[in-house]
Order: sequence, then C-alpha cells, then structure tokens
Amino acid sequence: METEKEERPLNFLEKIIEDDLKNGRVPNNEIVTRFPPEPNGYLHIGHIKSICINFGLAEKYGGRCHLRLDDTNPAKEETEYIDSIKEDIKWLGFDWGKYEYYASDYYDKLYEIAVRLIKEGQAYVDSLSAEEMKEYRGTLTEPGKNSPDRDRPIEENLRLFEEMKEGKYPEGSYTLRAKIDMASPNINLRDPALYRIKYATHPRTGDKWCIYPMYDFTHPISDAIEGITHSICTLEFEDHRPAYDWATSIDGIEHTPHQYEFARLNINYMLMSKRKLLYLVRNNFVSGWDDPRMPTISGVRRRGYSPESMKDFVNRVGVAKVEGVVDYALMEFCVREDLNKRAKRLMAVLDPLLVVIDNYEDGKTEYFDAEDNPEDENSKSHKVAFSKHIYIEKEDFMENPVKGYHRLYIGNEIRLKHAYYITATSVEKDGEGNIICVHATYDPESRGGTTKDGRKVKGTSHWVSKDHALEAEVRQYDKLFKAEVPGLSTGNYLDDLNPDSLVVIEKAYIEEEARNAKAGDYLQFIRNGYYCVDSKDSRPEHMVFNRTCTLKDSWAKQKAKLGL
Ligand code: ATP
Ligand code: MG
Repeated sequence: METEKEERPLNFLEKIIEDDLKNGRVPNNEIVTRFPPEPNGYLHIGHIKSICINFGLAEKYGGRCHLRLDDTNPAKEETEYIDSIKEDIKWLGFDWGKYEYYASDYYDKLYEIAVRLIKEGQAYVDSLSAEEMKEYRGTLTEPGKNSPDRDRPIEENLRLFEEMKEGKYPEGSYTLRAKIDMASPNINLRDPALYRIKYATHPRTGDKWCIYPMYDFTHPISDAIEGITHSICTLEFEDHRPAYDWATSIDGIEHTPHQYEFARLNINYMLMSKRKLLYLVRNNFVSGWDDPRMPTISGVRRRGYSPESMKDFVNRVGVAKVEGVVDYALMEFCVREDLNKRAKRLMAVLDPLLVVIDNYEDGKTEYFDAEDNPEDENSKSHKVAFSKHIYIEKEDFMENPVKGYHRLYIGNEIRLKHAYYITATSVEKDGEGNIICVHATYDPESRGGTTKDGRKVKGTSHWVSKDHALEAEVRQYDKLFKAEVPGLSTGNYLDDLNPDSLVVIEKAYIEEEARNAKAGDYLQFIRNGYYCVDSKDSRPEHMVFNRTCTLKDSWAKQKAKLGL
C-alpha cells in the first residue's frame, strides 16, 4: 500500500505545494491546511475526501491541519454535530491536535475589521430588502445597480452598524455590505454582504451577538488569522475566489492564504447533500444519521466499513479539477479488499433448513478447528461444534436438482465445511408439501473434510449445529437508493428509495463463536457476506448483526446464466 502511494504521480495540489515550498513561498516552510466543516449535519463520504486531502497534505509535507468548525449560521447548528464531526475525523485516523478552532472565535476580530472598513469608506449599511438586493445585483450578463444607501455617510454607517449589533433592528432590515463594484463581471464582487441580523442563540457565543458575519467574509479572514497557507475547497467556490482574495487583502491583514479548488466526490446511488440527508433523518426514512444505509461517516462505520477501506477508496478516486461520478462498485470493491484481509470467518445460516444426520450419535458433540482467516498467515483458529442436528441454507438443498447444481440433493454427497462428508437420503414434508427436514448420513472417515479413498465432492456447504448455534437478528442492508442518480426520472429523490434497502432476518443461526464478537470487529459469514455487530442495538441476550456488503456470489452469476 505504502509503496503504491509513493509511486503515483503528484496530484495538482501536491504540485502546487511542492512548487511553493521550492520557491520559498511558504512561511517557515510549514504547510498549514484546514478542514472547515459547517456543523449543520453529520459528515458524509464526500467529506472523507476533503479530510484526506487536507490532513493528508499536512502529513505528507510535515505541516499541520486545523479543524475549524465553520459556525456562522447559529440557527442550523448544534453541538451534537460538532461532537460527531470530531468522532468521525478521529475514526479516520487523523488528529488536529491542539489546532481546534471555531469561526465564532473570530467574531470580535471580524467586527473590528468591519468597523475599520466602514471608517475607510469600504463598507456601508444597506436597507434594501433581500428581494430588492437581488434585483439590484444584476445577472451574469447585466451589471448591477448601486443601492441608494451606497453613499450613506460614514458616521451614519457606524451608528447603524453599532445599533444593528445592539439589537435595535429586526432581522432583514439592514445588512452591512462591502463597497466593491456593482458592475463587476463576478457577481460575488457586487458589494457582497458582510453581516446580517439574526436573532438566534449560538452554541458557543450564546446571545452575545445578533449580527453574524457571512461566509465570504468569515472564511478568508479565519484562514488568514490561523496562518493557513493552502485553503483547499470544492469547485463551487471557484467563483468566490475573487471575494476571498478581496477579503485577505484588506488593510491590516498580515497573512495571505490562497484558495485552491478540487472536484467534489460524487458516488452513484448516493446523495451527498447534508440538506437532503437531514430530510431523510427528520422524516424517518432512515433511523438516524448513523443508519447503516446512510452515506455518512457514522453510517458507514455502523455498517462495518473500515476507515482504511474508505481512505483507500478516496485515494483511488484521486484529486482532480473535473467533476465526475464515481461508481458505487468501486467503493464496495475497496471495502471487500480490506475486509477480505482482516475479517474473521464464521459460519452463519440465514435461511435455515434442518438436516438430521441419522447415523450420528444423538447427544454427541464434536469440535472442529476453524481457521479465523485463511487470507492471514498469522491467523488463529476457533472451535466449532458439530452434532446430529444441523442447519444448512435452504438454497443449499434442492429436491429436484437442476443441471449444474452441485450442492445437496438426494443421493448426492457434499462436504460440510470443516467437518464431514454427508449424503442426503430422504426428505420430510409438512401437510402442505414444504420440506421441513432433510435426512442424511455422514462418513465417519471424512472427519476434517477429506476421505481415505480421496474421493472428491463438488459442493461444500456451511452449516451450524442446531443446539449450539447462536440465534441472532441479522439486518441485510442494501443500497438506500435504487436509481443511479436518485431523483433523476421524477425530480424527487424520495421516489427512488430502495424498498429492499433493509431486510431483517429475525432468527438467523450463527456458530457459537459469534457470541464473542463485539462492535467494531470485522466478520465474514462464509458465503453470505461481510458483517459486523450493530453498535447500537446489539445486546448479549439479543445480538444484532449488520450486513456490510455481499461477497461476490458465483452462484448468483451461474443462476443468471442458467436463467433461473
Ligand atoms: P453539503 O453540500 O453536503 O451540505 P457542504 O459543502 O455544505 O456539504 P461543509 O461542512 O461546508 O459541507 O464542508 C466542509 C468541507 O468539505 C468543505 O471544504 C467542502 O468543500 C468539503 N466537501 C463537502 N462535500 C464534499 C464532497 N462531496 N466531496 C469533497 N469535499 C466535500
Ligand atoms: Mg457548506
């Protein structure tokens, strides 16, 4: 892995940084980046890309990365989100150390700068309403018009701004605007708003403020205060770069950071907008931000994805300036690659069919050694109990086998993984003709899965001992949306929710070793998929397992080929 990383060509950000370092453009030769989430929701997989870029560059070039909570919109922000953001970044293995900042730390400074701008005639208090402001702003093809308040005397601006701060005016009555250029070809430079009135209790500053600074004013100045050298954001901020440069060149601001944009991560079958994710949470389409179907970091963690696989994924996607949509299958590929190497193999029967081994002694238990992970040369093993009554998967038996079916059918011999060879002899049915159990005989000489005469069987089934197995709940998760681009065909992404995104198996049977599994362990239920213990709902007396993802299923392919 390490060597792979080293060998890939530099991405455009690395090139810029190396060039800046080489040419002495970085103060103290120390790269300083920041990850600036707005605490108005949980982080999603898209944010992983931004986290890996910002923390990753700082790591690679021996610099540092700040965590800055961009908390300038008190109405939408909550402490719960801040806590989750920190937990998620740590889970990914990154550490901001002592560099934890809040945009709200700079409110006093920002206010000071705003007053200074007013005094210098570079900002004014405007009484246009939001709609009027929009009208005056012009369009991409037409220049804007000056507000009638643009030439308000400095003294009056100072008084009004002070009174705005004191809470003398209702929301929307006044804004503070920068006096730049209403005819600028860049709309973001047409006298952008710097402050608005908002009566809301802020999670950190409480009721101290009722005016809050705007993003385009706050962000660049926060970057400058913190000594950020490379301010990396997503492409939608490209048009804001001139406003960024305007703010960082205000007199008295000593450090000049630079903004660079990269393409955000989009994945098909997924939505990555906090607003839409919040909607799904609020309206109970999912059980919460950490529902294992959510594309949030807390969701994929609960689903059983490893941080290493997510980092590998964003690494493979790479850093570019062109928007694209990444295939969900690539993400699952990365998850499987990693889990294959680390997941403990267990046998679980999700759709049980009872098999009675008639020639096996009743009440006897034998224990077999099962390797934890054949992909790991240091793998340990655990014991698995065998007895007369076992469960196999229903699909591992066919009364009337089709051509190409090598699993259990009457007269056919198969291998039970880790245990004996068995041959089916007859079936028992209920009054409606449903098979309730299969009778079989075993070959006592085939213990451990090989016979003296070396005869071969084509099928191997996993199984559990009926009296020893753990009865548990298994949640079979699938994609939350069934369309590649949710909402594309009807305009409403809710129409594309996958009704089968969660199928609950109330009673699955898992070998008794599963009792030792805990949240955070990576498991593979042989032939069924990768699983984990649900971190929220699992209890010792009622264990709950989540399907992380399926294995590649050769039988599904074969079935499709046979047209079954
Ligand atoms: P959303 O659009 O999902 O609400 P956001 O951009 O509003 O996300 P922020 O909290 O402002 O979320 O984002 C923090 C950082 O993460 C920003 O620098 C932003 O550019 C980056 N980011 C957000 N979404 C993605 C994404 N899909 N891919 C890469 N980076 C992203
Ligand atoms: Mg945002």
